[in-house]
Order: sequence, then C-alpha cells, then structure tokens
Amino acid sequence: MSRFCAKCGYEMDEMAVACPKCGAPTGVNNNRPKIIQNKNIATCVILSILTCGIYGIIWFVSLTDDSKRLKDDNTASGGVAFLFTLLSCGIYSIYWGYKIGKRLYEAGKEQGVDVSDNSILYIVLSLFGLGIVNYCLIQNDLNKFADK
Ligand SMILES: [Zn+2]
Repeated sequence: MSRFCAKCGYEMDEMAVACPKCGAPTGVNNNRPKIIQNKNIATCVILSILTCGIYGIIWFVSLTDDSKRLKDDNTASGGVAFLFTLLSCGIYSIYWGYKIGKRLYEAGKEQGVDVSDNSILYIVLSLFGLGIVNYCLIQNDLNKFADK
C-alpha cells in the first residue's frame, strides 16, 4: 500500500511520518508506539498461585521493565530489582513499590493517563506482606497505558 504526499504528490509508504521528498508531515503518528502490553490481572494471579510463585517472579520483572519503558528513572531493571529483593530478604521490594508508584504517577501526568500516586499505599501493602496486591494495582495502572 502506498499513499501520496498532499503537498508534492510524491508516492510514499502509507506508514511514513513525513514525505521523503519534501518533508511535509503526513499526519501518521508513529511517535507513540504501543510499548506496554495489556495483561489480564486475574490470569497473572492464577498463574502465580499455580506455579507456586514462580510466575510471580516473571510478573515482578515485567512490571518493573514495563514501568521503566514508560518512564526510565535510572533505577534497577526487572532482573536486577529481583536480585536486590532476594539479597535484601524482601526489604528492597518495599522501596521498589514506592518507586514504581511514583514512576507511574509521573508517567500518567506526562501522558495524560489518570493514575493516582499509590507509592505510600504500596509501601504499606509490602509491609503487610501483600506484595501480590501491589502487583495487581500496578498492573491495573500499566493496563491504562496499554489501552490508551
Ligand atoms: Zn512531499
């Protein structure tokens, strides 16, 4: 498929953001690629239970990396964050929840997605050992970006 430049008539790829000949913008918006995949929260929870928590690790890593794709604030990537959590006997995950809450809130403000600042809530839930509730809430916010 191809289309023609409205300005100079040059034939170009229909996904082109700008005319390769005269540089006129085509109105195709490639600036916001879908970088976040929508995940079904119930499926993630069930998989985590069925795999005795192993899927929870995968989920933790993907939550971290997806949120960093929205806004990279130079904190640890998913794999490293998981390692830190192991080495600190879980203490790092409290900081992790706080950080991811702030990150999603900031990304929401930047991209016009309605996300509340849950950073303090995530700390509290982590302290009560309810990390999986954090995962659900974080995934719920990430899905808002995926569906945008
Ligand atoms: Zn043109």
